[in-house]
Amino acid sequence: MNPRIEVNYRKLVHNTEVLQEKAKEHGIELAAVTKCFCGIPEIAQGYVDGGVKYLADSRISNLKKLQKLPNPKILLRIPMLSEVKDVVAYADISLNSELKTMRVLNEEALRLGVTHKVILMVDLGDLREGIFDEDEVLHAAKEVEKLSNISLHGIGVNLTCYGGVIPSNKNLTKLEALGTAIEKEIGRTLELFSGGNSSSVYLLDNQEMPERINHLRIGEAIVLGTESAYGKNIENTHQDIFQMVAEIIELKEKPSMPIGEIGMDAFGNTPSFEDEGIRKRAILAVGRQDIGSYDIFPVDTSMSILGASSDHLILDLTDTAGDFEVGDEIRFNLRYGALLSLMTSEYVTKKIIY
Ligand SMILES: *Cc1c(COP(=O)(O)O)cnc(C)c1O
Repeated sequence: MNPRIEVNYRKLVHNTEVLQEKAKEHGIELAAVTKCFCGIPEIAQGYVDGGVKYLADSRISNLKKLQKLPNPKILLRIPMLSEVKDVVAYADISLNSELKTMRVLNEEALRLGVTHKVILMVDLGDLREGIFDEDEVLHAAKEVEKLSNISLHGIGVNLTCYGGVIPSNKNLTKLEALGTAIEKEIGRTLELFSGGNSSSVYLLDNQEMPERINHLRIGEAIVLGTESAYGKNIENTHQDIFQMVAEIIELKEKPSMPIGEIGMDAFGNTPSFEDEGIRKRAILAVGRQDIGSYDIFPVDTSMSILGASSDHLILDLTDTAGDFEVGDEIRFNLRYGALLSLMTSEYVTKKIIY
């Protein structure tokens, strides 16, 4: 069924192994992040086959789907108070920054007779989640330590998400120092120093990762083979594990300039055009409801994307060598935004190629 997104399983396992090996050389355990494919367990199995220890997702509903896989699960998004029951039930570890929430998690863990592990998130300047003030970090750690059924498992940071702040030896050394200060305060060592996401991967190659960072939460670097600090491809990885396939429903020669007075397009923007004469145009049965953004790239680079409305994607095929017909399939590589949208769209078939 079209449109579809294809997942090359062999390539996914390969990328996982490459990242896993890279991390291992630096004494780092990986949490492989499943949110970019909505936690589909058959895809997550590729991470497991690639040798990662943890599976992580920002949504508890995705972790729920992964219960059959034996790996410890990490909830990445700070829990909602309204979901603590599920958090304790389906996540072994959660990232937290609010004492109030951790106290409610404790009550639930106590009720179930289990211990729930937390990673205390600190904010080193990116200004998304985490405790910003150093004294408040120490205070929170001490308070968490008093909770009977919560175990303070580690400290973590998230960067390059809101503020675009790049992880560096300098800011991750700050994380180390904060962790060490907590250890002094509570009189024992912390298990995990979680040093960020795919934007931290370049520090491994540059041999700049601080000594005590022993954990990274990695999605993009595995699934797209790109690090997210500078957007570079990671050596020896595939960038085309996930591809979108869409079908031509109309193929016609048309002028490149619309005829008539130009008002707004379907999304309220006023479009502008250049006159390039008559062009060979294809309409594909996929649209912005599925791809979200324009983060898609035809595998045949002689094609170009002219635009998209909710359910239609318009391509210019004039410069391609191929002979196309209605019903033909066109293949695209994806960036993160499109991958996320396509996996989320119920109109898109997900197909694993083994
Ligand atoms: C999504 C997410 C990650 C993984 O990010 P990638 O850039 O895909 O590696 C790591 N940590 C947190 C808190 C996240 O929300």
